[in-house]
Order: sequence, then structure tokens, then C-alpha cells
Amino acid sequence: MFKGILITKVEAGYLAQLQTIDDSVLPDGDVQVQVAWSTLNYKDGLAITGKSPVVRRFPMVPGIDFAGTVTHSSHAAWKVGDKVVLNGWGVGETHCGGLAQVARVKGDWLVPLPAAFTERQAMAIGTAGYTAMLCVLALERHDIKPADGEILVTGANGGVGSVAIALLAKLGYTVVASTGRLAESDYLKALGATQVMDRAELSAPGKAIGKERWAGVIDTVGSHTLANACATTQYNGAVAACGLAGGMDFPATVAPFILRGITLYGIDSVMAPLAVRLQAWERLARDLDVSKLEAMTREIRLDQAIDVAAELLQGQVRGRVVVDVAGS
Ligand code: NDP
Repeated sequence: MFKGILITKVEAGYLAQLQTIDDSVLPDGDVQVQVAWSTLNYKDGLAITGKSPVVRRFPMVPGIDFAGTVTHSSHAAWKVGDKVVLNGWGVGETHCGGLAQVARVKGDWLVPLPAAFTERQAMAIGTAGYTAMLCVLALERHDIKPADGEILVTGANGGVGSVAIALLAKLGYTVVASTGRLAESDYLKALGATQVMDRAELSAPGKAIGKERWAGVIDTVGSHTLANACATTQYNGAVAACGLAGGMDFPATVAPFILRGITLYGIDSVMAPLAVRLQAWERLARDLDVSKLEAMTREIRLDQAIDVAAELLQGQVRGRVVVDVAGS
């Protein structure tokens, strides 16, 4: 028996409760992990509140990521005592996840805890930060250099946005942060944004093509924001799209693609192959300033996670949330 959040299906929708969970709830897996820290990502907010049907098996322990220590293993790559990190693979959606003190998963899904990070720091980064790194890697592969011009980051105060700003600034890029919370401008500038813009400038329907501005874009918002970002990206520039905080639609035209040769990269962290994950974590260890990481991180316990999940979806959470699972 161990402590955790369990989502059950009830007539009115989902019911998420902190409770004592029996081991029999956990699915099969060749590695068992004592979870030390987890996090709240946007998708965890959707799962816990039931706002979107991301949970596809009940009962379900939410939590799309965790860091902890291996306690049982029949997988060749892992032995008892190894420190590990998990992001994605449907964990917290179809397979019980990280917001409980024990997780049982496939060893193939795990990566070693990077030596540069504690378990808490790895989860302060979490899936949001690892996805931000995947976005940065996409812009780098497109050969976008700091001298090419400004990089737009949308949903700037969120987890992906905050980590993306810190990474891009460290790499020498000029970052423009788009946010609905202009009152947080000092926070965004402290992370490394050189300019902060009101997200309202991007969220309304815009022209098929506009004045060229961005050398690159990291978009967490989708919908008109993504369409407008594409329409104002420079000739041969690139947009890395990873999110839908503003909507899943993409009301755009082909104009920026066929007239300006821009490229739209889709970023998926959930099923990314192991080599890509290892590269992303290696680059996070090198390029993320841990003092900035600390400044963007709020720590909570499991018994606060359900309330904070609702705050997250209301856009009231700044940066990242880590959950002290072991200490709860
Ligand atoms: P957060 O909730 O931490 O951040 C989202 C941010 O988006 C908010 O802080 C807010 O920023 C902005 N926002 C919220 N609502 C709206 C709205 N209606 N219109 C415009 N902007 C809005 O989420 P994460 O950073 O964890 O995730 C961001 C997005 O990326 C989510 O859609 C998530 O599902 C997706 N994601 C995708 C992954 C993948 O593998 N593709 C992995 C991880 C996340 P501000 O207040 O600054 O405007």
C-alpha cells in the first residue's frame, strides 16, 4: 500500500482523490520505482480535472513524469538502486503514472537521471522542460543562429515557455516572450526575454501573411497564435509547434509556406525515441541555468496537486510545479 492520487470514473465524469493505493492497481512492468518527485504538466491538469479525455483506463494514477529509484527490476538495463527519470509513453494516461509513491513501468521507457541534476531538479524540468529542449533542438537543426533575428516564445509564463526562454537566452538568442500576464514581465526578463509582448497581438484572426519578424518560433498555444506566428516568420525561418493551450485548431493558409519557404516542425515528447530523449537531457544538463530553473519552480505536496491542477488549467500557475511525492 502506498500514497497517491487515483482517478476513477464516476457518472459525473472523473473523480481524482488522494488515497492509499493497493499495489494490485499498478499494471505489469519489468521495473518498479520508488517515486521521489513528480510534476504537474498541462496534460496532468487535463487528466486530474477531467477537462479533456486524456485518461483512457480506470482507475488511473495521473502524472506523465517522475524521478525516483529502482526497487525491483527484471530488465537488463536497470538494477536496484538506479536513479531514473520517465517522461511520457502514455504514463498517466493509459498506464499508471508518477503522482503516487510507487510506479511499475517498462524499463525501455526509462532514462538515467542525468548526473547534473537531482531528482527534484529533473522534475522541475519535467516533460515541459524536456519538450522545450526538443523545440530548441528543432530550431538548431534548422540552422537558426542567434544573429538571424528574434525568436518568439508563446505561452511564455507556462512550463514549456519558461524553460524555452531560459535555454534560448543561454544560447545567445534574442527572445520575445508572448504572454497574457504582462504583470509577470520582470520574471520573463529575468529568465532572459529581451522583450515581452501581449498575447492579444497574436490571438485574434490575422492576415494570411504579415511583416517578416521572427527567425524562429516556439509555440505552445496553437490556433490563431500559431497561424499568426507562421504568417510573420522570416523567409526560410522555422516554427516549432508543441502545444494547444489556446486551442487545437490551426486556422492558417499555405501562404507563409509557399511564399516564404517557412518550415513548421511538430514536436512530440511522448513517443520520442530513446536517442532523442538522451540528447535532450544531455543538452538540458549543459544549457539550462539551474538558478533560473529554481526561480521558475514552485514546490507542492501530493495533497495540493488536485487544487493546483485546476489553477494550472486556468493559466494561474507561473513556470513549473514540482510535487514532493516521497515527502507527502
Ligand atoms: P502551462 O499550463 O504551464 O502553460 C501554458 C501557458 O499558455 C500558460 O501559462 C499561458 O501563458 C498560456 N495560455 C494558457 N491559456 C491560453 C489561452 N487560452 N490562449 C493563449 N495562451 C494561453 O502548460 P505547459 O507549459 O506544461 O504546456 C504548454 C502546452 O504544451 C500545452 O498545450 C501542453 O499540452 C503542450 N505540451 C506538449 C508536449 C508535446 O509533447 N507536444 C509536451 C508538453 C506540453 P501566459 O500566461 O504567459 O500567456
